[in-house]
Amino acid sequence: MITALTVSKKYGDLLAVNNLTLEIDEGGVYGIIGRSGAGKSTLLRLISLLEPPDLGEVRYAGKRVDALKGRDLLRMRRKMGMIFQNFNLFSSRDVFGNVAYPLEIAGLGKKAIKTRTEELLKMVNISDKKHSALRDLSGGQKQRVAIARALAVEPDVLFCDEATSALDPKTTREVLALIKELHEKLRITVVIVTHQMEVIRAICDKVAVMENGALAEEGAVEAVFTNPKSPAAKELLHGE
Ligand code: ADP
Repeated sequence: MITALTVSKKYGDLLAVNNLTLEIDEGGVYGIIGRSGAGKSTLLRLISLLEPPDLGEVRYAGKRVDALKGRDLLRMRRKMGMIFQNFNLFSSRDVFGNVAYPLEIAGLGKKAIKTRTEELLKMVNISDKKHSALRDLSGGQKQRVAIARALAVEPDVLFCDEATSALDPKTTREVLALIKELHEKLRITVVIVTHQMEVIRAICDKVAVMENGALAEEGAVEAVFTNPKSPAAKELLHGE
């Protein structure tokens, strides 16, 4: 279980996340939705330990982790994979080199890196592009590479920050289907930040609706979508 307990984060005078409490069950696909500026990415950075909250706590399996530093922080972060809207891949490395990178950092030997990287490329169905340069890949292919890289060191959680927002609808469906498949196969917890309802509908079990840095509503996707209670959730549904 990932818990954010009364977390707040300020940038100057702007309260990006405001006294927010959230619990994410292990093994599910959890969506965080809201319009642009609602504080979703900030919340994701807090729970993925990229930034500490100003107030409140982040806990993993009941253990406080937001104040970790140095080696302890690195050890926690190694259990998390992340993918982003703009892929964040290394343009100087080919497909293989990108996926191999975290394995190099983890100190694996050359042979083990090759075996594991090839396994990962196969898992995301991009083995045929192994030695391609990134500029020769489509957006969907780049996101597959990013997913392979994120999963290289077998994390417990995959955080996705608007991971399909730069993709066309068909590619979005393909990437979501891949995430769902890997979630089931690897039993990995998935946390998805998005402004797109269709993403939540496609693969999430639970959803949190954010507005103005706070939680407007939270619950099973089905329940929130059939009977939205908050103005924020209603607006998202009407906007479809
Ligand atoms: P969302 O992901 O829902 O679009 P964000 O978490 O990115 O929302 O942003 C929430 C608010 O915090 C926005 O008003 C944004 O401009 C502000 N913000 C986010 N990150 C920073 C930062 N590093 N510095 C200053 N303001 C920020």
